[in-house]
Amino acid sequence: MIDVKKARAETPGTENVLHFNNAGAALMPGEVVDALKDHIDLEAEIGGYEAAAQTIDADAHTYDAIAGLINCKTTEVAFVENATVGWSGAFYGLANTFKSGDRILTARSEYSSNYIAYLQIAERTGIEIDVIPDDETGALSPSALENMIDDRVKLISITHVPTNGGLINPAVAVGKIANALRVPYLLDACQSVGQMPIDVAEIGCDMLSATGRKYLRGPRGTGFLYASSQIMEKFDPPVLDNHAAKWTGRNTYEIRSDAKRFENWENYTAGKIALGVAVDYATSWGLDNIFARNLHLATLFRDRLSQIPGVTLRDLGTNPGAIVTFTVDRIEAPDITARMAKYKINITHSTLFSTRLDMEKRHLNAVVRASLHYYNTEQEIDRFIEKLTVEIA
Ligand SMILES: *Cc1c(COP(=O)(O)O)cnc(C)c1O
Repeated sequence: MIDVKKARAETPGTENVLHFNNAGAALMPGEVVDALKDHIDLEAEIGGYEAAAQTIDADAHTYDAIAGLINCKTTEVAFVENATVGWSGAFYGLANTFKSGDRILTARSEYSSNYIAYLQIAERTGIEIDVIPDDETGALSPSALENMIDDRVKLISITHVPTNGGLINPAVAVGKIANALRVPYLLDACQSVGQMPIDVAEIGCDMLSATGRKYLRGPRGTGFLYASSQIMEKFDPPVLDNHAAKWTGRNTYEIRSDAKRFENWENYTAGKIALGVAVDYATSWGLDNIFARNLHLATLFRDRLSQIPGVTLRDLGTNPGAIVTFTVDRIEAPDITARMAKYKINITHSTLFSTRLDMEKRHLNAVVRASLHYYNTEQEIDRFIEKLTVEIA
């Protein structure tokens, strides 16, 4: 169970705003903010390198904390500046092994940045991009995936929870198929890490990317990549520097053996330390508890929204998570965001440009996105419903 009073007391922003934009950037807990500020103060007081030397343990702890969170080895974690950089390290590295005629499989709810990368590599190498069909609920269909696999498939790359809704794709079922057929599996877990328990061993993915600022409640400018020891033997990172590799002789270099091969030498030390604090903070509540409360709030919220005339819920899947999306008759989604902002209610909207395949299929240009987290309350849902009802009446 979550002690919501305590969670809010530990989250300074809850005094100022009604924050349903946790899929954008969640409110940071005070501890995370303090860790960030403390390290920047230390850098200002004694110097950046000297501050890093004094905080080696906290820096190392972040890798352990992330490994604990997702159930992998510490050496399988890279700290990066956002999920996209982590994802790109995995994808573009693997893409260097692709040949014309190879296939990559993705799903309808794929994130724009990922799909743009597929298009670029398709243009360069002549690979085929194939989209796994949905089941009747709008989730990726594992049986359809199974039927698509042949020996030209070189990667299965999907988004776990899309940026534009509550859908939770069946990541574990995909992992079973990928592993049985020995196809590399890259999972974009940007919206699921921190929202729900994530276990890479259970999922069976070879690579997973996540960001710090969303459901993990970490600072902006932080993210991580998980790459399994086995997959790291199969391809090189697309970019190497003197941290990812060692210049061992005039004409030789050696890539480091751990996942830090996906990092650069220079990094956001304060952010890394604070991300570790955010992971510890999430773990201290328990991801099962966090997810249970998220589902409770989202279910209540959807139920209330569904009773407002003119509102249409837009989430897919049988048991959607904490990202709640809807449209309103005759009022554009960005306009709803703006109207709610007047009341210090933070939401956003998600457009065709973030998830084109899915939005086109559903004939949607944009949806309103209200993403809840465990520190939100039933009273905030009441207030949201009250203001929305007034605004669209
Ligand atoms: C936000 C998001 C990303 C990108 O994360 P960054 O940290 O901004 O790079 C990728 N995939 C999904 C599904 C997202 O929602």
